[in-house]
Amino acid sequence: MKSYDIAVIKGDGIGPEIVDEAIKVLDAVSKKENFGLNYKEFLMGGCAYEAVGTPIPDITIEGCKVSDAVLFGSIGGYKWDNLPREMKPESGLLKLRKELGLFANLRPVSVFDELIEASSMKAEVIKGVDLLVVRELTGGIYFGEPRVNDGQRAYNTMVYTRDEIIRIAKVAFESAMKRRKKVCSVDKANVLEVSRLWRAVVEEVAVDYPEVELTHMFVDNASMQLVRDPKQFDVILTGNIFGDILSDEASMMTGSIGLLPSSSIGGIVGLYEPIHGSAPDIAGQGIANPLATILSASMMLRFSLGETKAADIIDDTIKDVLHDGYRTPDLAKYHAKEVCSTSEIGSIIAQRILRA
Ligand code: NAD
Repeated sequence: MKSYDIAVIKGDGIGPEIVDEAIKVLDAVSKKENFGLNYKEFLMGGCAYEAVGTPIPDITIEGCKVSDAVLFGSIGGYKWDNLPREMKPESGLLKLRKELGLFANLRPVSVFDELIEASSMKAEVIKGVDLLVVRELTGGIYFGEPRVNDGQRAYNTMVYTRDEIIRIAKVAFESAMKRRKKVCSVDKANVLEVSRLWRAVVEEVAVDYPEVELTHMFVDNASMQLVRDPKQFDVILTGNIFGDILSDEASMMTGSIGLLPSSSIGGIVGLYEPIHGSAPDIAGQGIANPLATILSASMMLRFSLGETKAADIIDDTIKDVLHDGYRTPDLAKYHAKEVCSTSEIGSIIAQRILRA
C-alpha cells in the first residue's frame, strides 16, 4: 500500500478546528482509495511562540522539508499583535514559505451553483466563474529591504528580479495551458518601476507560449473588473501584495471566505492552506467553515501526491453535501436544510465518502 508523510500545522484561532475536519475527510478518502497517510504535527504561529518562544521552530521547517506535503490551517491573533515583527505569528509563515522556496501561490476561485445567492454579487455576473489567481509569494513588498519604521517615517520596498518574475510567469502560463489559455498579468506599470520590469519580463516569457493570449491590466482596473465581469478572467498573474488583495476580493464571489483553498508550490514541498486567516472572532465556537481547508486537502492529494481520484471524490462529495442543504453558520441563510457545526459538516462529508 502506498503511503505518504504529511506535515500538519494546525496553528492558531480556528486552525486546529478546521484542520481536524480536513484530516477526518482525508482519513475517509485514503481508506476508500487504499493509500496511507502518516501525519506529523508541528508548531507554527502564536502557539509556537507561547510554547517555545519563536513563531517557527527549526524542527517545523525541517519536518516540512522531509514530508511529501504540508497541510496548514491558519496563524495569528490579537494576543500577539504587539510583539516585535520577527516574533509575530505571520513572520513564522513568511519564513516557512521562504525556507521551502514556495514562490507560487495558486488560488482557484469557482462558484458553487447552490451558493450563488450567498454572494453579495449578482447571480448573472458570477454564475460560471472559474478563475485562478497565480500570486508571487516570496518576493515583492512583503520581503523587500530596506524596511523602516522609526516612529516619524516608515517605508517598505517593493523589489522584483528578472528571475523571480520569469519563474512565476512560467507557472501562470503552464497553468493557462491546462485551462482556457488566457493570462491577464496585473501590475501598476503606469506608476511603479518594479511593475514596468514585471510587464516587460512577462512579455518575454509569453513568447514561449504562443497559444496563450496575454493581456495586461493595472491593479486598480483589475479590482474593478473582478466585480464588473469576473468571467473575463482565466488566469490572473500578479505579485505578492496585489495577489493578496485581489484574491480576497475574488473570494466574495463564492459567498464566504471559508470556501477558498490555496496551494503554494515551486519549492521543496507543496503547502496547502485556506486563504482565510485564523478568525479569532469565532475561534473555539465550532462555527468555522472547514470547507476551504478540506478543499485545500483535496488540492494536496491532486498536486503533491498524484491521488487524483481521491481529490475528485472529495470535491464531488462537497458539492453533494452543499446541494443537499448542509451549511455552516456563515452560509446558513442560503437554502440551508440543516445548519451544522464545523465538526458536523466534516463528519457528514467523511461518512458519505466511506458509504459511497
Ligand atoms: P480572517 O480571514 O481571519 O477573518 C476575516 C473574517 O472572516 C472574520 O469575520 C472571520 O470570522 C471570517 N472567517 C474567516 N475564516 C472563516 C471560516 N473558515 N469560516 C467562517 N468565517 C470565517 O482575517 P482577519 O480577521 O483579518 O485576521 C485574523 C488573523 O489571521 C490575523 O492575526 C491575521 O494576521 C491572520 N491571518 C492569517 C493568515 C494565514 O494564516 N495564512 C491569513 C490571513 C490573516
